[in-house]
Amino acid sequence: MSGIQNSDTKSQVITTFDQHPVFSCASCSAVIALQDELISKAFSGRDGRGYLMHSAVNVKTGKKEDRPLLTGVHTVADVYCLGCNERMGWYYLKASDQSQKYKEGKYLLEREKLIKENNWNLDE
Ligand SMILES: [Zn+2]
Repeated sequence: MSGIQNSDTKSQVITTFDQHPVFSCASCSAVIALQDELISKAFSGRDGRGYLMHSAVNVKTGKKEDRPLLTGVHTVADVYCLGCNERMGWYYLKASDQSQKYKEGKYLLEREKLIKENNWNLDE
Protein backbone atom coordinates (compact mmCIF):
# COMPACT_ATOMS: atom_id res chain seq x y z
CA MET A 1 0.00 0.00 0.00
CA SER A 2 2.93 2.30 -0.63
CA GLY A 3 0.97 4.90 -2.55
CA ILE A 4 -1.50 5.79 0.14
CA GLN A 5 -0.53 7.99 3.00
CA ASN A 6 -2.83 9.35 5.61
CA SER A 7 -4.05 12.41 3.79
CA ASP A 8 -5.15 14.06 7.02
CA THR A 9 -1.55 14.58 8.08
CA LYS A 10 -0.47 16.15 4.81
CA SER A 11 -1.06 19.83 4.43
CA GLN A 12 2.26 21.20 3.27
CA VAL A 13 2.88 21.47 -0.45
CA ILE A 14 6.26 20.03 -1.34
CA THR A 15 8.44 22.13 -3.62
CA THR A 16 11.82 20.44 -3.55
CA PHE A 17 12.12 19.16 -7.11
CA ASP A 18 13.83 22.18 -8.67
CA GLN A 19 16.28 20.23 -10.76
CA HIS A 20 13.83 17.70 -12.11
CA PRO A 21 11.27 17.86 -14.89
CA VAL A 22 7.90 17.65 -13.22
CA PHE A 23 4.20 17.79 -13.87
CA SER A 24 2.52 20.57 -11.92
CA CYS A 25 -1.06 21.42 -11.14
CA ALA A 26 -2.48 23.61 -13.90
CA SER A 27 -4.52 25.53 -11.34
CA CYS A 28 -2.07 26.29 -8.53
CA SER A 29 1.34 25.12 -9.85
CA ALA A 30 1.94 22.67 -7.02
CA VAL A 31 4.29 19.88 -8.07
CA ILE A 32 2.19 16.78 -8.71
CA ALA A 33 4.61 14.22 -10.13
CA LEU A 34 8.13 13.76 -11.38
CA GLN A 35 8.19 13.14 -15.11
CA ASP A 36 10.57 10.25 -14.40
CA GLU A 37 7.65 8.50 -12.75
CA LEU A 38 5.64 8.42 -15.96
CA ILE A 39 4.69 4.91 -17.08
CA SER A 40 2.43 5.63 -20.03
CA LYS A 41 0.76 8.52 -21.80
CA ALA A 42 -1.67 6.23 -23.59
CA PHE A 43 -4.36 6.21 -20.94
CA SER A 44 -7.82 7.69 -20.84
CA GLY A 45 -8.89 9.94 -18.03
CA ARG A 46 -12.42 10.92 -17.27
CA ASP A 47 -12.44 13.86 -19.68
CA GLY A 48 -9.56 13.16 -21.99
CA ARG A 49 -6.08 11.74 -22.09
CA GLY A 50 -4.44 10.53 -18.94
CA TYR A 51 -0.97 9.68 -17.72
CA LEU A 52 -0.24 6.54 -15.74
CA MET A 53 2.30 7.41 -13.02
CA HIS A 54 4.29 5.37 -10.53
CA SER A 55 3.79 8.00 -7.88
CA ALA A 56 2.40 11.42 -7.18
CA VAL A 57 3.05 14.07 -4.56
CA ASN A 58 0.95 16.87 -3.14
CA VAL A 59 -2.22 14.87 -3.64
CA LYS A 60 -4.79 13.47 -1.26
CA THR A 61 -7.07 10.56 -1.96
CA GLY A 62 -10.82 10.61 -1.72
CA LYS A 63 -13.30 7.83 -1.07
CA LYS A 64 -12.62 4.56 -2.83
CA GLU A 65 -15.21 3.21 -5.20
CA ASP A 66 -15.66 0.56 -7.86
CA ARG A 67 -15.62 2.25 -11.23
CA PRO A 68 -16.24 0.69 -14.64
CA LEU A 69 -13.42 1.81 -16.93
CA LEU A 70 -12.58 0.95 -20.50
CA THR A 71 -10.56 -2.03 -19.30
CA GLY A 72 -13.04 -3.37 -16.78
CA VAL A 73 -14.12 -2.59 -13.24
CA HIS A 74 -11.41 -1.09 -11.05
CA THR A 75 -11.42 -0.05 -7.42
CA VAL A 76 -10.15 3.50 -7.50
CA ALA A 77 -10.01 6.59 -5.33
CA ASP A 78 -10.03 10.06 -6.82
CA VAL A 79 -6.99 12.16 -6.02
CA TYR A 80 -7.08 15.87 -5.36
CA CYS A 81 -4.42 18.55 -5.44
CA LEU A 82 -3.31 19.53 -1.94
CA GLY A 83 -2.81 23.10 -3.07
CA CYS A 84 -6.21 23.86 -4.58
CA ASN A 85 -8.41 20.75 -4.17
CA GLU A 86 -8.73 20.32 -7.92
CA ARG A 87 -9.45 16.71 -8.92
CA MET A 88 -6.30 15.48 -10.66
CA GLY A 89 -7.26 11.93 -11.53
CA TRP A 90 -7.44 8.76 -9.50
CA TYR A 91 -5.44 6.09 -7.72
CA TYR A 92 -5.80 2.42 -8.64
CA LEU A 93 -6.35 0.31 -5.55
CA LYS A 94 -7.49 -2.85 -7.28
CA ALA A 95 -8.13 -4.18 -10.76
CA SER A 96 -10.60 -6.99 -11.26
CA ASP A 97 -9.09 -8.27 -14.49
CA GLN A 98 -5.81 -10.16 -14.15
CA SER A 99 -4.34 -8.38 -17.15
CA GLN A 100 -4.87 -5.00 -15.49
CA LYS A 101 -3.17 -5.83 -12.18
CA TYR A 102 -0.08 -3.84 -13.11
CA LYS A 103 -2.06 -0.65 -12.52
CA GLU A 104 -2.60 -1.37 -8.85
CA GLY A 105 -0.79 1.15 -6.70
CA LYS A 106 -0.42 3.56 -9.62
CA TYR A 107 -1.93 6.94 -10.35
CA LEU A 108 -3.91 8.07 -13.36
CA LEU A 109 -3.50 11.81 -13.78
CA GLU A 110 -5.65 13.83 -16.15
CA ARG A 111 -3.43 15.39 -18.77
CA GLU A 112 -5.41 18.60 -18.98
CA LYS A 113 -5.02 19.20 -15.24
CA LEU A 114 -1.24 19.20 -15.53
CA ILE A 115 1.37 21.58 -16.82
CA LYS A 116 4.94 20.58 -17.55
CA GLU A 117 7.93 22.32 -16.06
CA ASN A 118 11.60 21.96 -16.95
CA ASN A 119 10.36 20.09 -19.95
CA TRP A 120 13.63 19.85 -21.80
CA ASN A 121 13.21 16.17 -22.58
CA LEU A 122 9.64 16.08 -23.79
CA ASP A 123 8.55 15.47 -27.31
CA GLU A 124 5.35 17.49 -27.34
ZN1 LIG B 1 -3.57 22.65 -7.49
